Amino acid sequence: MPDTIHKGSCACGQVRVEARGEPYRVGVCHCLTCRKAHGAPFNFYAVFSPEAVTVAGEVIEFASSENVRRYSCRSCGAPIYSNYGRDDEFYLYPGSFDEPGLFQPTYELWTRRREPWLPTFPNVVRRYPESRPKWRRTERD
Ligand SMILES: [Zn+2]
Ligand SMILES: [Zn+2]
Repeated sequence: MPDTIHKGSCACGQVRVEARGEPYRVGVCHCLTCRKAHGAPFNFYAVFSPEAVTVAGEVIEFASSENVRRYSCRSCGAPIYSNYGRDDEFYLYPGSFDEPGLFQPTYELWTRRREPWLPTFPNVVRRYPESRPKWRRTERD
């Protein structure tokens, strides 16, 4: 069976993004940098292998710290993907995809900065008060 292809875009539609198959992991980060970079109470992301991701259209690169690079649509500024210190992982944003409900977070980072009004998320198996102490590819069990 061929991998499912998930399709999405930026807000203006000039950048199209496709992700093939299942992500390595899906998470939520409540850290201050993510909050500010997205202007949102948290960052919701799905991590894919670069080989599974196709981006078409013009993006511009931003850096919020030395090893974090974020890429946004050149026309509308919508975030498209980011790299967090590793070139072998692309962080995409489930909010970019055309269909809701494709991805659900299984872990949370920086819960000590979590908005107090947020409900407990179902299916989350691990909650880290800050960053993950040790990098791991998956967060399922
Ligand atoms: Zn755009
Ligand atoms: Zn963060």
